[in-house]
Amino acid sequence: MAYDANNIFARMVRGEIPCTRVHEDADTLAFMDIMPQADGHTLVIPKVAGENLYETPPESVAAAIRTTQRVARAVQRAFAAPGLVVTQFNGATAGQTVFHLHFHIVPVYTAGAWRPHAREKADPAVLEEHAARIRAALAAG
Ligand code: AMP
Repeated sequence: MAYDANNIFARMVRGEIPCTRVHEDADTLAFMDIMPQADGHTLVIPKVAGENLYETPPESVAAAIRTTQRVARAVQRAFAAPGLVVTQFNGATAGQTVFHLHFHIVPVYTAGAWRPHAREKADPAVLEEHAARIRAALAAG
């Protein structure tokens, strides 16, 4: 499948649609998942166009992983969950619904207790409060 330059994450990178941002640098963007599977569920994307792990230049994957590590540490500090999972899906069969490479950072509070994937929209005010906690943890180093 050819990369769709109008996918929702590409439009966020271009600033055409809003997101609840926690971090941005020259190569990557991190923001709250609009349908979180757990409180603190955050997404990290490279800014470069790439549908999935296979199609994205390795240096952009590396930048996204660096940001994923940094944001995961901040999410862990901000939410103090005993566990945290990082996932990344390639292809609709694997569960991918947005075709721009992204890494999910999902806290685990109780084993097996996640909400369904990409199903229920969260209250935007709650997402903003969660993002503020993660931004504060990032600022604290
Ligand atoms: P995947 O199914 O791995 O492609 O994940 C896509 C994720 O993007 C899902 O967890 C959705 O909840 C999330 N998502 C979809 N639209 C938005 C949006 N506008 N802002 C933030 N997250 C979104």
